[in-house]
Amino acid sequence: MRDWRDRFRRFMVGRYGTDELNRFLLTAVLVMILGNVFARNRLVFWLEAICLILCYFRMFSRNTGRRFQENQVYLRWRFYVGEWFRNLKFRIQEGRRYKIFKCPGCGQKIRIPRGHGKIQIRCRKCGREFFGRS
Ligand SMILES: [Zn+2]
Repeated sequence: MRDWRDRFRRFMVGRYGTDELNRFLLTAVLVMILGNVFARNRLVFWLEAICLILCYFRMFSRNTGRRFQENQVYLRWRFYVGEWFRNLKFRIQEGRRYKIFKCPGCGQKIRIPRGHGKIQIRCRKCGREFFGRS
């Protein structure tokens, strides 16, 4: 066992190893395998294989600079996607607490807390007053 580990360590010298992108690929493969247990979709099966091959290819790759770059691209995308979801969550929470009115005069959007019934709203931009139900 020790010998095997040693050999593996020597084998991995100068190779890239694993990173966040590889962890994501492995998670994706796992999810696809679990999700595809009953459906047995051929396309998903090939996608699993491609992800797995890609994962191993990156792990044993000696071109560490290139692999590092790929991981950076992945991290950037993950950040953007995360931001989008955080934003969505924020908008949903806002929507529950506030109602957005549009001024009939100038089109300015006005945010009013919910639960005040019918109220008179005064546009801060053009001064026009109108009624709305919050
Ligand atoms: Zn207005």
